[in-house]
Amino acid sequence: MAGAGPGGLATALYLSRAGHRVHLFERFTRARPIGSGLMLQPTGLAVLADLGLAGRATALGARIDRLVGTDARSGRAVLDVGYWPLGTHVHAIGIHRATLFKLLHEPVSERGMAIRTAYPVASVERDTDRIWLRSPHGLEGPFDLVVDAMGAGSPLRAEARRGGPTRPLGFGAVWGTVPWVDDGFSRHALTQRYVKAKVMIGVLPLGRRTRGGVEEAAFFWSLKPDEYAALEQRGFEAWSAEVRRHWPATAPHLAALGTFEALTLARYAHQTLAHPAGDRIVFVGDSAHATSPQLGQGANMALLDAAALSVALERADDLPAALGEYVRLRRWHVRLYQLLSLTLTPFYQSNGHLLPLLRDGLVAAAAQWGPVQRLLAGMVAGQLLRPLEAIGLEPAPTRSGT
Ligand SMILES: Cc1cc2nc3c(=O)[nH]c(=O)nc-3n(C[C@H](O)[C@H](O)[C@H](O)COP(=O)(O)OP(=O)(O)OC[C@H]3O[C@@H](n4cnc5c(N)ncnc54)[C@H](O)[C@@H]3O)c2cc1C
Repeated sequence: MAGAGPGGLATALYLSRAGHRVHLFERFTRARPIGSGLMLQPTGLAVLADLGLAGRATALGARIDRLVGTDARSGRAVLDVGYWPLGTHVHAIGIHRATLFKLLHEPVSERGMAIRTAYPVASVERDTDRIWLRSPHGLEGPFDLVVDAMGAGSPLRAEARRGGPTRPLGFGAVWGTVPWVDDGFSRHALTQRYVKAKVMIGVLPLGRRTRGGVEEAAFFWSLKPDEYAALEQRGFEAWSAEVRRHWPATAPHLAALGTFEALTLARYAHQTLAHPAGDRIVFVGDSAHATSPQLGQGANMALLDAAALSVALERADDLPAALGEYVRLRRWHVRLYQLLSLTLTPFYQSNGHLLPLLRDGLVAAAAQWGPVQRLLAGMVAGQLLRPLEAIGLEPAPTRSGT
Protein backbone atom coordinates (compact mmCIF):
# COMPACT_ATOMS: atom_id res chain seq x y z
CA MET A 1 0.00 0.00 0.00
CA ALA A 2 1.56 3.29 -1.07
CA GLY A 3 0.08 6.38 0.63
CA ALA A 4 -1.56 6.71 4.05
CA GLY A 5 -4.43 9.11 3.26
CA PRO A 6 -8.09 8.13 3.68
CA GLY A 7 -7.98 5.88 0.59
CA GLY A 8 -4.82 4.03 1.65
CA LEU A 9 -5.81 3.56 5.29
CA ALA A 10 -9.33 2.34 4.44
CA THR A 11 -7.98 -0.07 1.82
CA ALA A 12 -5.39 -1.36 4.31
CA LEU A 13 -8.17 -2.04 6.82
CA TYR A 14 -10.32 -3.89 4.29
CA LEU A 15 -7.43 -5.99 3.02
CA SER A 16 -6.19 -6.83 6.49
CA ARG A 17 -9.72 -7.77 7.52
CA ALA A 18 -9.81 -10.19 4.56
CA GLY A 19 -6.64 -11.87 5.82
CA HIS A 20 -4.06 -10.23 3.53
CA ARG A 21 -0.68 -9.16 4.90
CA VAL A 22 -0.50 -5.41 4.30
CA HIS A 23 2.59 -3.17 4.28
CA LEU A 24 2.03 0.59 4.22
CA PHE A 25 4.51 3.11 2.80
CA GLU A 26 4.18 6.87 3.28
CA ARG A 27 6.48 9.67 2.14
CA PHE A 28 6.08 11.79 5.28
CA THR A 29 8.36 11.22 8.23
CA ARG A 30 5.26 11.04 10.40
CA ALA A 31 1.96 9.90 8.91
CA ARG A 32 -0.35 12.91 9.26
CA PRO A 33 -3.21 14.65 7.51
CA ILE A 34 -2.77 17.96 5.69
CA GLY A 35 -5.29 20.78 5.59
CA SER A 36 -8.48 21.53 7.43
CA GLY A 37 -11.80 19.75 7.16
CA LEU A 38 -13.94 17.89 4.70
CA MET A 39 -17.44 16.56 4.29
CA LEU A 40 -18.18 12.89 4.70
CA GLN A 41 -21.19 12.18 2.53
CA PRO A 42 -23.71 9.37 3.13
CA THR A 43 -21.60 7.22 0.77
CA GLY A 44 -18.39 7.69 2.75
CA LEU A 45 -20.29 7.26 6.02
CA ALA A 46 -21.71 3.94 4.79
CA VAL A 47 -18.16 2.71 4.08
CA LEU A 48 -17.03 3.88 7.52
CA ALA A 49 -20.04 2.06 9.01
CA ASP A 50 -18.90 -1.09 7.20
CA LEU A 51 -15.49 -0.64 8.85
CA GLY A 52 -17.16 -0.08 12.24
CA LEU A 53 -16.02 3.56 12.38
CA ALA A 54 -19.10 5.64 11.52
CA GLY A 55 -20.27 5.89 15.15
CA ARG A 56 -17.11 7.75 16.16
CA ALA A 57 -17.16 9.94 13.04
CA THR A 58 -20.76 10.88 13.84
CA ALA A 59 -20.01 11.48 17.53
CA LEU A 60 -17.06 13.76 16.83
CA GLY A 61 -17.96 15.49 13.56
CA ALA A 62 -20.75 18.00 12.89
CA ARG A 63 -23.99 16.77 11.37
CA ILE A 64 -24.56 18.67 8.09
CA ASP A 65 -28.12 18.82 6.81
CA ARG A 66 -27.87 21.60 4.24
CA LEU A 67 -25.57 23.46 1.89
CA VAL A 68 -26.50 27.13 1.74
CA GLY A 69 -25.00 29.73 -0.60
CA THR A 70 -25.83 33.44 -0.52
CA ASP A 71 -25.07 36.23 -2.95
CA ALA A 72 -22.85 38.61 -0.97
CA ARG A 73 -24.24 41.76 -2.57
CA SER A 74 -27.99 41.10 -2.45
CA GLY A 75 -28.08 38.74 0.54
CA ARG A 76 -30.28 36.43 -1.56
CA ALA A 77 -29.95 32.66 -1.04
CA VAL A 78 -28.91 31.23 -4.42
CA LEU A 79 -28.13 27.69 -3.25
CA ASP A 80 -30.04 25.68 -0.69
CA VAL A 81 -29.59 21.95 -1.02
CA GLY A 82 -30.76 19.74 1.81
CA TYR A 83 -30.32 16.00 2.30
CA TRP A 84 -33.90 15.72 3.57
CA PRO A 85 -35.44 14.58 0.21
CA LEU A 86 -33.43 11.36 0.71
CA GLY A 87 -34.91 10.73 4.19
CA THR A 88 -34.80 12.56 7.49
CA HIS A 89 -31.95 10.39 8.77
CA VAL A 90 -29.72 11.17 5.74
CA HIS A 91 -27.02 13.77 6.31
CA ALA A 92 -23.33 14.46 5.87
CA ILE A 93 -20.66 14.97 8.52
CA GLY A 94 -18.22 17.86 8.59
CA ILE A 95 -15.02 16.52 10.10
CA HIS A 96 -11.47 17.67 10.65
CA ARG A 97 -8.97 15.76 8.52
CA ALA A 98 -6.98 14.93 11.64
CA THR A 99 -10.08 13.28 13.15
CA LEU A 100 -10.72 11.21 10.04
CA PHE A 101 -7.05 10.27 9.90
CA LYS A 102 -7.09 9.21 13.56
CA LEU A 103 -10.28 7.18 13.10
CA LEU A 104 -8.70 5.18 10.28
CA HIS A 105 -5.17 5.10 11.64
CA GLU A 106 -6.02 3.66 15.07
CA PRO A 107 -7.45 0.35 13.79
CA VAL A 108 -4.58 0.12 11.30
CA SER A 109 -2.16 0.27 14.25
CA GLU A 110 -4.30 -2.07 16.34
CA ARG A 111 -4.14 -4.65 13.57
CA GLY A 112 -0.37 -4.44 13.75
CA MET A 113 0.11 -2.86 10.34
CA ALA A 114 3.18 -0.68 10.57
CA ILE A 115 3.47 2.37 8.35
CA ARG A 116 6.95 2.73 6.90
CA THR A 117 7.30 6.51 6.92
CA ALA A 118 9.81 8.74 5.11
CA TYR A 119 9.56 6.35 2.18
CA PRO A 120 8.74 8.37 -0.97
CA VAL A 121 7.72 5.77 -3.53
CA ALA A 122 9.21 6.66 -6.91
CA SER A 123 8.59 3.62 -9.13
CA VAL A 124 7.80 -0.10 -9.24
CA GLU A 125 9.82 -3.05 -10.47
CA ARG A 126 8.50 -6.45 -11.50
CA ASP A 127 9.51 -10.00 -12.35
CA THR A 128 7.10 -12.53 -13.81
CA ASP A 129 4.78 -12.80 -10.83
CA ARG A 130 5.84 -10.26 -8.19
CA ILE A 131 6.18 -6.52 -7.79
CA TRP A 132 8.49 -4.25 -5.73
CA LEU A 133 8.32 -0.59 -4.66
CA ARG A 134 11.36 1.58 -5.25
CA SER A 135 12.23 4.79 -3.40
CA PRO A 136 15.53 6.69 -3.00
CA HIS A 137 15.95 4.50 0.14
CA GLY A 138 15.98 1.28 -1.86
CA LEU A 139 13.69 -1.54 -2.89
CA GLU A 140 10.83 -2.99 -0.78
CA GLY A 141 9.02 -6.21 -1.56
CA PRO A 142 8.25 -8.53 -3.18
CA PHE A 143 4.46 -8.04 -3.09
CA ASP A 144 1.55 -9.70 -4.88
CA LEU A 145 -0.16 -6.36 -5.46
CA VAL A 146 0.68 -2.66 -5.13
CA VAL A 147 -2.22 -0.38 -4.19
CA ASP A 148 -1.43 3.17 -5.25
CA ALA A 149 -3.20 5.54 -2.84
CA MET A 150 -0.69 8.38 -3.25
CA GLY A 151 -3.20 11.03 -4.22
CA ALA A 152 -3.33 13.38 -7.19
CA GLY A 153 0.46 13.62 -7.55
CA SER A 154 1.14 9.88 -7.66
CA PRO A 155 4.37 9.09 -9.53
CA LEU A 156 2.95 5.70 -10.64
CA ARG A 157 0.02 6.82 -12.76
CA ALA A 158 1.81 5.77 -15.96
CA GLU A 159 1.56 2.17 -14.69
CA ALA A 160 -2.23 2.20 -15.22
CA ARG A 161 -3.47 0.38 -18.30
CA ARG A 162 -5.15 3.55 -19.58
CA GLY A 163 -4.39 6.99 -18.20
CA GLY A 164 -5.73 10.45 -18.72
CA PRO A 165 -4.08 13.86 -18.66
CA THR A 166 -3.75 15.84 -15.43
CA ARG A 167 -5.20 19.29 -15.77
CA PRO A 168 -4.28 21.90 -13.14
CA LEU A 169 -7.43 23.90 -12.36
CA GLY A 170 -7.32 27.69 -12.49
CA PHE A 171 -8.70 28.20 -8.99
CA GLY A 172 -7.72 26.69 -5.66
CA ALA A 173 -8.39 27.97 -2.15
CA VAL A 174 -6.81 28.86 1.15
CA TRP A 175 -8.15 26.88 4.10
CA GLY A 176 -7.80 27.26 7.83
CA THR A 177 -9.31 25.85 11.02
CA VAL A 178 -11.02 28.27 13.40
CA PRO A 179 -13.03 27.96 16.62
CA TRP A 180 -16.77 27.60 16.04
CA VAL A 181 -18.74 30.88 16.00
CA ASP A 182 -22.49 30.74 16.61
CA ASP A 183 -23.47 34.22 15.55
CA GLY A 184 -24.72 34.15 11.95
CA PHE A 185 -23.91 30.46 11.30
CA SER A 186 -25.75 27.19 11.53
CA ARG A 187 -24.03 24.24 13.19
CA HIS A 188 -25.70 21.98 10.63
CA ALA A 189 -24.96 23.72 7.34
CA LEU A 190 -22.05 24.36 5.01
CA THR A 191 -22.47 28.10 4.45
CA GLN A 192 -21.00 29.98 1.53
CA ARG A 193 -20.98 33.55 0.18
CA TYR A 194 -20.39 34.41 -3.46
CA VAL A 195 -19.73 37.42 -5.63
CA LYS A 196 -20.39 35.97 -9.07
CA ALA A 197 -17.90 33.06 -9.27
CA LYS A 198 -14.92 35.26 -8.53
CA VAL A 199 -15.37 35.38 -4.79
CA MET A 200 -16.33 32.33 -2.77
CA ILE A 201 -16.01 32.22 1.01
CA GLY A 202 -17.12 29.23 3.04
CA VAL A 203 -17.54 28.04 6.60
CA LEU A 204 -17.91 24.31 7.27
CA PRO A 205 -18.70 23.09 10.81
CA LEU A 206 -16.25 20.38 11.88
CA GLY A 207 -17.46 19.32 15.33
CA ARG A 208 -14.68 18.38 17.75
CA ARG A 209 -11.38 16.57 17.35
CA THR A 210 -11.76 14.88 20.74
CA ARG A 211 -14.72 14.32 23.05
CA GLY A 212 -14.99 17.49 25.13
CA GLY A 213 -12.61 19.37 22.80
CA VAL A 214 -13.46 22.78 21.33
CA GLU A 215 -15.88 22.95 18.44
CA GLU A 216 -14.22 24.04 15.21
CA ALA A 217 -15.01 25.10 11.67
CA ALA A 218 -13.10 25.14 8.40
CA PHE A 219 -12.85 28.57 6.80
CA PHE A 220 -11.98 28.87 3.10
CA TRP A 221 -11.46 31.55 0.51
CA SER A 222 -11.32 30.70 -3.17
CA LEU A 223 -8.40 32.12 -5.16
CA LYS A 224 -6.04 31.49 -8.04
CA PRO A 225 -2.90 29.91 -6.55
CA ASP A 226 -0.65 32.16 -8.64
CA GLU A 227 -2.30 35.22 -7.07
CA TYR A 228 -1.53 34.11 -3.53
CA ALA A 229 1.87 35.85 -3.40
CA ALA A 230 0.22 39.16 -4.35
CA LEU A 231 -2.42 38.61 -1.66
CA GLU A 232 0.28 38.06 0.94
CA GLN A 233 1.96 41.26 -0.21
CA ARG A 234 -1.26 43.21 0.26
CA GLY A 235 -1.17 42.00 3.84
CA PHE A 236 -3.50 40.04 6.09
CA GLU A 237 -5.33 43.14 7.35
CA ALA A 238 -6.20 44.39 3.85
CA TRP A 239 -7.44 40.93 2.85
CA SER A 240 -9.44 40.53 6.09
CA ALA A 241 -11.13 43.86 5.42
CA GLU A 242 -12.14 42.64 1.97
CA VAL A 243 -13.54 39.37 3.36
CA ARG A 244 -15.43 41.24 6.09
CA ARG A 245 -16.91 43.57 3.49
CA HIS A 246 -18.36 40.56 1.67
CA TRP A 247 -19.38 38.75 4.86
CA PRO A 248 -19.26 40.76 8.11
CA ALA A 249 -20.10 37.69 10.24
CA THR A 250 -16.67 36.19 9.45
CA ALA A 251 -14.88 38.87 11.52
CA PRO A 252 -14.29 36.43 14.46
CA HIS A 253 -12.96 33.77 12.06
CA LEU A 254 -10.48 36.22 10.56
CA ALA A 255 -9.44 37.44 14.01
CA ALA A 256 -8.85 33.82 15.05
CA LEU A 257 -6.72 33.16 11.97
CA GLY A 258 -4.67 36.31 12.56
CA THR A 259 -2.00 35.72 9.89
CA PHE A 260 -1.60 34.02 6.52
CA GLU A 261 0.45 31.36 8.31
CA ALA A 262 -2.76 29.92 9.73
CA LEU A 263 -3.95 29.20 6.18
CA THR A 264 -2.97 26.39 3.82
CA LEU A 265 -2.99 26.97 0.09
CA ALA A 266 -4.68 24.11 -1.76
CA ARG A 267 -4.14 23.74 -5.50
CA TYR A 268 -6.71 21.71 -7.39
CA ALA A 269 -6.13 19.44 -10.39
CA HIS A 270 -8.43 17.26 -12.43
CA GLN A 271 -7.48 13.85 -13.74
CA THR A 272 -9.23 10.54 -14.29
CA LEU A 273 -7.56 7.23 -15.06
CA ALA A 274 -9.69 5.51 -17.71
CA HIS A 275 -8.58 2.10 -16.39
CA PRO A 276 -7.23 2.48 -12.83
CA ALA A 277 -5.34 -0.81 -12.74
CA GLY A 278 -2.32 -2.36 -14.42
CA ASP A 279 -0.01 -5.32 -14.04
CA ARG A 280 -0.26 -6.12 -10.27
CA ILE A 281 -1.06 -2.50 -9.47
CA VAL A 282 -4.36 -0.80 -8.70
CA PHE A 283 -5.24 2.85 -8.04
CA VAL A 284 -7.63 4.10 -5.37
CA GLY A 285 -8.75 7.61 -4.44
CA ASP A 286 -7.20 10.72 -5.91
CA SER A 287 -4.47 8.77 -7.71
CA ALA A 288 -7.29 7.30 -9.83
CA HIS A 289 -9.50 10.38 -9.97
CA ALA A 290 -8.67 13.83 -8.61
CA THR A 291 -10.81 16.91 -8.96
CA SER A 292 -11.77 20.18 -7.24
CA PRO A 293 -13.59 19.66 -3.93
CA GLN A 294 -16.58 21.71 -5.09
CA LEU A 295 -18.91 18.70 -4.85
CA GLY A 296 -17.25 17.38 -1.67
CA GLN A 297 -16.80 13.85 -2.98
CA GLY A 298 -13.06 13.06 -3.13
CA ALA A 299 -12.53 11.37 0.23
CA ASN A 300 -15.88 9.63 -0.12
CA MET A 301 -14.90 8.26 -3.52
CA ALA A 302 -11.59 7.09 -2.03
CA LEU A 303 -13.56 5.20 0.67
CA LEU A 304 -15.89 3.74 -1.97
CA ASP A 305 -12.86 2.60 -3.98
CA ALA A 306 -11.44 0.85 -0.91
CA ALA A 307 -14.69 -1.01 -0.30
CA ALA A 308 -15.07 -1.89 -3.98
CA LEU A 309 -11.54 -3.27 -4.18
CA SER A 310 -12.21 -5.49 -1.21
CA VAL A 311 -15.46 -6.78 -2.78
CA ALA A 312 -13.70 -7.40 -6.11
CA LEU A 313 -10.84 -9.34 -4.47
CA GLU A 314 -13.37 -11.47 -2.62
CA ARG A 315 -15.53 -12.12 -5.70
CA ALA A 316 -12.88 -12.99 -8.31
CA ASP A 317 -10.86 -16.18 -8.75
CA ASP A 318 -7.54 -14.53 -9.57
CA LEU A 319 -5.86 -11.13 -9.35
CA PRO A 320 -6.36 -9.97 -12.98
CA ALA A 321 -10.07 -10.82 -12.74
CA ALA A 322 -10.32 -9.01 -9.38
CA LEU A 323 -8.71 -5.86 -10.77
CA GLY A 324 -11.04 -6.00 -13.78
CA GLU A 325 -14.01 -6.33 -11.43
CA TYR A 326 -12.80 -3.38 -9.33
CA VAL A 327 -12.54 -1.20 -12.43
CA ARG A 328 -16.03 -2.29 -13.51
CA LEU A 329 -17.58 -1.66 -10.09
CA ARG A 330 -16.31 1.91 -9.88
CA ARG A 331 -16.21 2.99 -13.55
CA TRP A 332 -19.51 4.81 -14.09
CA HIS A 333 -19.87 6.39 -10.67
CA VAL A 334 -16.34 7.81 -10.91
CA ARG A 335 -16.88 9.04 -14.47
CA LEU A 336 -20.19 10.69 -13.66
CA TYR A 337 -18.87 12.52 -10.59
CA GLN A 338 -15.66 13.54 -12.34
CA LEU A 339 -17.76 15.00 -15.15
CA LEU A 340 -20.17 16.73 -12.75
CA SER A 341 -17.32 18.18 -10.77
CA LEU A 342 -15.50 19.46 -13.85
CA THR A 343 -18.72 20.95 -15.24
CA LEU A 344 -19.97 22.53 -12.02
CA THR A 345 -16.70 23.98 -10.69
CA PRO A 346 -16.69 27.02 -13.05
CA PHE A 347 -20.18 27.95 -11.75
CA TYR A 348 -18.46 28.61 -8.41
CA GLN A 349 -14.84 29.31 -9.30
CA SER A 350 -14.17 31.28 -12.49
CA ASN A 351 -13.94 34.79 -13.84
CA GLY A 352 -16.95 34.38 -16.12
CA HIS A 353 -20.24 36.28 -15.75
CA LEU A 354 -22.69 33.96 -17.53
CA LEU A 355 -22.28 30.82 -15.40
CA PRO A 356 -22.85 32.52 -12.02
CA LEU A 357 -25.80 34.34 -13.58
CA LEU A 358 -27.31 31.00 -14.60
CA ARG A 359 -26.50 29.57 -11.17
CA ASP A 360 -28.22 32.41 -9.32
CA GLY A 361 -31.18 32.64 -11.66
CA LEU A 362 -32.18 29.53 -13.52
CA VAL A 363 -30.64 26.88 -11.27
CA ALA A 364 -31.78 28.59 -8.06
CA ALA A 365 -35.34 28.74 -9.44
CA ALA A 366 -35.32 25.12 -10.64
CA ALA A 367 -34.03 24.02 -7.24
CA GLN A 368 -37.36 25.02 -5.68
CA TRP A 369 -38.99 22.14 -7.53
CA GLY A 370 -39.32 18.79 -5.72
CA PRO A 371 -37.78 16.46 -8.33
CA VAL A 372 -34.81 18.84 -8.80
CA GLN A 373 -34.35 19.05 -5.02
CA ARG A 374 -34.23 15.27 -4.91
CA LEU A 375 -31.77 15.10 -7.79
CA LEU A 376 -29.51 17.71 -6.17
CA ALA A 377 -29.67 15.92 -2.83
CA GLY A 378 -28.75 12.62 -4.49
CA MET A 379 -25.90 14.30 -6.36
CA VAL A 380 -24.43 15.96 -3.28
CA ALA A 381 -24.87 12.78 -1.23
CA GLY A 382 -22.74 10.95 -3.82
CA GLN A 383 -25.57 8.53 -4.45
CA LEU A 384 -26.28 9.01 -8.16
CA LEU A 385 -25.88 5.65 -9.95
CA ARG A 386 -26.18 3.88 -6.57
CA PRO A 387 -22.50 3.20 -5.89
CA LEU A 388 -23.20 1.58 -2.51
CA GLU A 389 -25.69 -0.94 -3.82
CA ALA A 390 -23.12 -2.03 -6.42
CA ILE A 391 -20.80 -3.11 -3.61
CA GLY A 392 -23.46 -4.52 -1.31
CA LEU A 393 -23.59 -1.69 1.24
CA GLU A 394 -26.55 0.13 2.76
CA PRO A 395 -27.23 3.52 1.13
CA ALA A 396 -27.25 5.50 4.38
CA PRO A 397 -25.79 5.14 7.83
CA THR A 398 -28.15 3.60 10.36
CA ARG A 399 -29.55 5.72 13.17
CA SER A 400 -27.11 4.22 15.62
CA GLY A 401 -24.33 5.20 13.23
CA THR A 402 -22.41 1.97 13.70
C1 LIG B 1 -9.10 21.98 0.35
C2 LIG B 1 -9.73 20.65 0.08
C3 LIG B 1 -11.03 20.38 0.51
C4 LIG B 1 -11.60 19.13 0.28
N1 LIG B 1 -12.88 18.88 0.72
C5 LIG B 1 -13.41 17.65 0.52
C6 LIG B 1 -14.71 17.32 1.02
O1 LIG B 1 -15.42 18.14 1.61
N2 LIG B 1 -15.17 16.05 0.86
C7 LIG B 1 -14.41 15.12 0.21
O2 LIG B 1 -14.86 13.97 0.11
N3 LIG B 1 -13.21 15.42 -0.29
C8 LIG B 1 -12.68 16.64 -0.15
N4 LIG B 1 -11.46 16.93 -0.65
C9 LIG B 1 -10.76 15.91 -1.42
C10 LIG B 1 -10.10 14.90 -0.52
O3 LIG B 1 -9.23 15.54 0.38
C11 LIG B 1 -9.32 13.90 -1.35
O4 LIG B 1 -10.13 13.43 -2.39
C12 LIG B 1 -8.88 12.75 -0.47
O5 LIG B 1 -8.00 13.20 0.53
C13 LIG B 1 -8.22 11.68 -1.34
O6 LIG B 1 -7.72 10.68 -0.50
P1 LIG B 1 -6.50 9.80 -0.99
O7 LIG B 1 -6.23 8.86 0.14
O8 LIG B 1 -6.79 9.23 -2.32
O9 LIG B 1 -5.29 10.79 -1.23
P2 LIG B 1 -4.58 11.79 -0.25
O10 LIG B 1 -5.49 12.24 0.84
O11 LIG B 1 -3.95 12.82 -1.12
O12 LIG B 1 -3.44 10.92 0.44
C14 LIG B 1 -2.32 10.51 -0.29
C15 LIG B 1 -1.25 10.06 0.69
O13 LIG B 1 -0.14 9.54 -0.07
C16 LIG B 1 1.06 10.09 0.40
N5 LIG B 1 2.00 10.15 -0.72
C17 LIG B 1 1.98 11.00 -1.78
N6 LIG B 1 3.01 10.75 -2.59
C18 LIG B 1 3.70 9.74 -2.06
C19 LIG B 1 4.87 9.03 -2.44
N7 LIG B 1 5.55 9.34 -3.56
N8 LIG B 1 5.30 8.00 -1.66
C20 LIG B 1 4.61 7.67 -0.51
N9 LIG B 1 3.51 8.31 -0.11
C21 LIG B 1 3.05 9.33 -0.86
C22 LIG B 1 0.66 11.48 0.90
O14 LIG B 1 1.61 11.99 1.81
C23 LIG B 1 -0.69 11.19 1.55
O15 LIG B 1 -0.56 10.77 2.88
C24 LIG B 1 -10.87 18.17 -0.43
C25 LIG B 1 -9.59 18.45 -0.88
C26 LIG B 1 -9.02 19.67 -0.63
C27 LIG B 1 -7.61 19.95 -1.12
